[in-house]
Amino acid sequence: MDQVEISTEALTEIVQHLPDGGRKRPGQLTMTRAIAEAIRDSEHLLVQAGTGVGKTLAYLLPAVISGKQTVVATFTKALQDQMVEKDLPFLSKHLRQTANKTFSFAEVKGWSNYLCLERLHQIRSAQSQGQLDGLAEQASANEIQQISEWASTTQTGDKADLDFAPQNASWRAVSVSSEECLRSDCPHVASCFPLQARQTAATADVIVANHALYAIDLQIGGALLGGHELVIFDEAHQIEDSFSEAFGFELTAARFRWLADLARPLLGPDTRVDRVAELGKQLSQNLRD
Ligand code: SF4
Repeated sequence: MDQVEISTEALTEIVQHLPDGGRKRPGQLTMTRAIAEAIRDSEHLLVQAGTGVGKTLAYLLPAVISGKQTVVATFTKALQDQMVEKDLPFLSKHLRQTANKTFSFAEVKGWSNYLCLERLHQIRSAQSQGQLDGLAEQASANEIQQISEWASTTQTGDKADLDFAPQNASWRAVSVSSEECLRSDCPHVASCFPLQARQTAATADVIVANHALYAIDLQIGGALLGGHELVIFDEAHQIEDSFSEAFGFELTAARFRWLADLARPLLGPDTRVDRVAELGKQLSQNLRD
């Protein structure tokens, strides 16, 4: 049997274990077959499928059967979490039973989605010396305390695993961007959560990312997701927006005003500052026209 037949047969068996008892979904089977053929023949494929087709299983199954290291990029982080918590464990369990096939999977998010142990250490040190930590000052002390307790039990350091949604200021205080990370100069590098997530993903068969992260990975030459063999974009119709956001920048009249307000105290009365504010007004007027 080739990978196309294995994929379609496995799908037919695995859907029996779904809560709806394996309701017939011909569209799902067609999609799985088309994807398995595209992978086998090293071709690109664009699929449009309606709601309820069972798209996630339809593309995950042939990707796993192919044995190629695959990145699945979802549109949102919520879909990423759902895939790792629900869809992939379901597939893993039933694929092992039906086709004796095992595979590994891991989730990768942007750096600032993970707790930074060095930031937490800095906050605790400042507190113990009665000093103020610039970022923690704007955060909720209660939330920082809860995050601090969670830090000793969490396996992932992923913000999504917290049992409450922290305010932005609180999470900003305990996380860093990739550019701010100290990497090998950090005393916590051996137990660093974002680094661990990337190390686990590097050897996983299925890496679950999102559109924005994939765009950043392209920008930095593959340093985030490594040299995978296959990529699947879920909700690919959103990709233009996701990539424009990641690669581009937003220019609004408010940004010109902000720049002028910032420059005014430094430059004093200066017609060039007024000109910047004026340009902002003109820009928004022209965009409206
Ligand atoms: S390596 Fe970077 S992200 Fe990790 S704990 Fe250190 S500073 Fe934070």
